[in-house]
Amino acid sequence: MRWGLKPRLIFAFISIIVLPIVASILFIALFSSGVDQQAGNEDDLDLLLSEVKSTIDENAGYLTEPALFYEKVSPLLEKYDIELKVFSASGDPIFNSAAHQRSDGASIWPDRLRKFNVDILTQEHGELSAEIKANSFSVQPFRQFQVIIYAVLGGAVIGLSVLAALILLWTWYISKTVLHPLKDIYHATEEVIEGNLDYKIRYVKKDEIGRFIEGFNLMRSHLKKSIEQRQQYEQARKQQIASISHDLRTPLASIKGYVEGLEDGIARNEEMQQKYYRVIKSKTDQLDRLIDDLFEFSKFELEQLSIDKSLVNSSEFFQEAFLSAQMDYRDVDLVLAGPLPSVSLNIDSARIKQVMSNLVDNAVKYGGTKIVMEVGEHGGFVQLSIKDNGQGIHSEDLPYIFNAFYRGEKSRSRESGGTGLGLAIVKYIIEAHGGEIHAKSQPGIGSEFTFTLPLYLRGVKHGERTLCFFCVLFLPLFSEF
Ligand code: ADP
Repeated sequence: MRWGLKPRLIFAFISIIVLPIVASILFIALFSSGVDQQAGNEDDLDLLLSEVKSTIDENAGYLTEPALFYEKVSPLLEKYDIELKVFSASGDPIFNSAAHQRSDGASIWPDRLRKFNVDILTQEHGELSAEIKANSFSVQPFRQFQVIIYAVLGGAVIGLSVLAALILLWTWYISKTVLHPLKDIYHATEEVIEGNLDYKIRYVKKDEIGRFIEGFNLMRSHLKKSIEQRQQYEQARKQQIASISHDLRTPLASIKGYVEGLEDGIARNEEMQQKYYRVIKSKTDQLDRLIDDLFEFSKFELEQLSIDKSLVNSSEFFQEAFLSAQMDYRDVDLVLAGPLPSVSLNIDSARIKQVMSNLVDNAVKYGGTKIVMEVGEHGGFVQLSIKDNGQGIHSEDLPYIFNAFYRGEKSRSRESGGTGLGLAIVKYIIEAHGGEIHAKSQPGIGSEFTFTLPLYLRGVKHGERTLCFFCVLFLPLFSEF
């Protein structure tokens, strides 16, 4: 049944009320129609009453002699199997057939159903009244009462049976469709409390309970996801702390070793000493870089790094950034491919230059000798790609290179002096501008990093443009009012 819970409950209540009544009525109708023919009718009762009346009237003279009177009326009493009481006009009993009759025991029917009163005007005694009491309902004209009583009782029994059957049926059905799923939900809640977030409740119906279970399953999977995310985050934190301590300890240990070497006079000649100083300088530079990157990264993490945006022309900005990169990397072949689009950008120039120099720096650091920069405009964004012919990135490293402290397999030796924070910072900066960054790479062939920046549209950010278009379109309509 595809019905919701409410219509099902309404249907259950209606059927519980209506069906027993219908069953009773049908039973009474069928039962009475079957026996109608033999049951007799009201005419038979009238006949009995008139017979009683005429018999009393004819024999009223014997009322002073009850035994004699009984003799006169007894054929009638026997014929109908009745008792007779006669009362005077003042209500005093003057005859009671029970005193003369042999009783077969108490009738199962109450007196109220068996008694009939009739007034008789006699010549002898004037006004009298008689009370007739049927001893048995199996004699005409009383058989019809028996039939009616049996029909009503039968109807009541049938009605009650149908009612009981319906109550049992609906209880079973509601318990199957409502209580069992509720039990499942309760069980699932206990599982979730105990930490089992994989327990899924199976329920296919799309009713209220189905929707509730769907919501429960959704909540469970969200909870699972958020716990997993928290665990991953905690794991990443632990890894970060381990990486930071390792990255700080390694150059510090070398510096310490070389300083001790100098103190102990291991570097005997000037040349050796100079070599030791150079290593110490390079290690301190490495530490300096790491601390700078860490400081910047933590500011991003704490969302404390301000992005000072201002309007620039994309063509002028990228031209200048490209020329300064060319100056910084004279030893590599840095090429600008294609024309530069001339659009407005609302950016923090220093930060975007930092992104570009970071990407070019990596390209050079990871073996690139030819670097091609290309800028284009596409779908409301300016897109810049930096392509190198370096060592490339392994496919298993590629999804993680933007994670903080992640270093590809080849750069883990720390020979490159990398901190693993460069690309994480780059990603933060680009996302803070409403853009995206992606990387493609083929090991042994090279890598390509592409980032986007949203165009600045005359005081309107991209995305709000559609809204403004509608404003302009509908403004004349509203100005009418
Ligand atoms: P790192 O300080 O190690 O350079 P980054 O965050 O800048 O850290 O880069 C993360 C990792 O991505 C690097 O360790 C390196 O494996 C890989 N990677 C980044 N840029 C390139 C590139 N142009 N060519 C090859 N590998 C790269």
